[in-house]
Amino acid sequence: MDAYEGRVTFLNNRDVGSGPYVLYWMQHSQRVRYNHALEFAIAQANELRKSLVVVFGITEHYPHANERNYAFMLEGLRETAETIKEKNALFVIALAEPDTAAIELASEAAMVVVDRGYVTIERRWRNTVASSVACSCIQVETDIVVPVELASWKEEYSAATLRNKIAGKIELFTALPECLTCNMPMVEIKTPSFPTVRLRTSADVEELLSTLAIDHSVKKSPTIKGGTTRAVLKLQRFVSELLVDYARKKGDPSEHVTSILSPYLHFGQISPIEVYLAVKEHDPQDTSGFLEELVVRRELAINFCHYRNDYDSYSSLPKWAVETLEIHRFDTRPVLYDDKQLIQGVTGDPYWNAAQRQLVVTGFMHGYMRMYWGKKLLEWKEHPEEAYALAVAMNDTFSIDGRDPNGYAGIAWCFGKHDRPWKERSVFGMVRYMNAKGLERKFDMSSYVRQIEDLK
Ligand code: FAD
Repeated sequence: MDAYEGRVTFLNNRDVGSGPYVLYWMQHSQRVRYNHALEFAIAQANELRKSLVVVFGITEHYPHANERNYAFMLEGLRETAETIKEKNALFVIALAEPDTAAIELASEAAMVVVDRGYVTIERRWRNTVASSVACSCIQVETDIVVPVELASWKEEYSAATLRNKIAGKIELFTALPECLTCNMPMVEIKTPSFPTVRLRTSADVEELLSTLAIDHSVKKSPTIKGGTTRAVLKLQRFVSELLVDYARKKGDPSEHVTSILSPYLHFGQISPIEVYLAVKEHDPQDTSGFLEELVVRRELAINFCHYRNDYDSYSSLPKWAVETLEIHRFDTRPVLYDDKQLIQGVTGDPYWNAAQRQLVVTGFMHGYMRMYWGKKLLEWKEHPEEAYALAVAMNDTFSIDGRDPNGYAGIAWCFGKHDRPWKERSVFGMVRYMNAKGLERKFDMSSYVRQIEDLK
């Protein structure tokens, strides 16, 4: 199959216009490397003998916009601004709502091409743009291996049901796009009504960051920085040094064998197909289980967000989970903590506190601890809805990879989603339980706690 098969959707039924350029509205896929949407836009521009303009809109109103997640995003955009020059494209970084910026530049465009993110705000922006522009608007899905509707036409119940559906399709969708350059000279565009910025240096990033009206109380991560080059280096190191231990040690929070690619995947700074192919080359049978996480688990999360508008709320849970939690609604909790105590990580549980500190200080939490972290909130809040809402709010605020389908599905999993009923017990009902003894049995938890205490 060619690289675009199954990835291209016409979002309106307008014709190609006569404007001097094709507009690639970069929404989610904030990279140049292996970006199907960008390459498709260039191919269209070359065929139509048009120039290429790329626009990215920086909004101050993205949910949970803060210094941490914007620093990561802007570091990535700075690199993208540099590398996109190779494509002979004019890159406009607009200080405007993404849909507003795209609509304004589309007024002179022959065609709009957009990539695809899966959360509500991204969907809403695309709908607005597609219905407002006078020219053809085409979506190209590039941050997924098997395009979401081709994987399944409905919400899937569990990893097992999705796995069955996509197992035979994955290899059909691993073609990377050909690397093209726009043949026509760069165009001049009319001065837009919105301000634009240049991101040439780290100082430009810092300056912009300091002027944005976002939450400045959540500081940049001291350990994780954005950009495609960093993502590719992380991938290379993971494959050559860590993959060999992944199956054995991935759950152990005191070890460091996972890829830490989730922030880069979240901001579209690396293609999941590139990651898939790099790992597949070393581990064709997926004996490490990494591809199961990258494709089945990640794409199950996308399936969840695509087919459910309430993906970030308690109402998205399966009937059995809601029923069992309802039966245990008034069970006495072992202890209750208020939001402040939880945010500060000052509970009586040193492992949970360490996980919370890892999240708040670095913007990342080990995957196994994320499960434990979510489960404990259920135990420590008076009602499950409260626990659910706090988990979403903390994850979206502090985690660089938050505000992502994986985060919403991960939190839902802690409350029974994509899982099955287990033996009934207090508070949890039949929702799977986790406790500190389980952590101690499996892992060197004191080493984990020591490592987190050493964080600056
Ligand atoms: P690796 O183990 O190296 O895996 C590679 C990639 O596979 C990850 O980057 C991710 O894209 C995908 N992946 C791995 N585990 C899962 C999983 N369980 N579900 C879906 N995809 C997975 N992931 C996020 O990307 N953003 C979040 O905000 C987020 N919040 C979570 C909250 C809770 C309560 C839970 C239980 C899970 C959450 N996850 C989230 C899923 C998972 O924990 C992280 O994706 C993973 O730990 C990221 O680390 P890594 O990149 O080193 O993963």
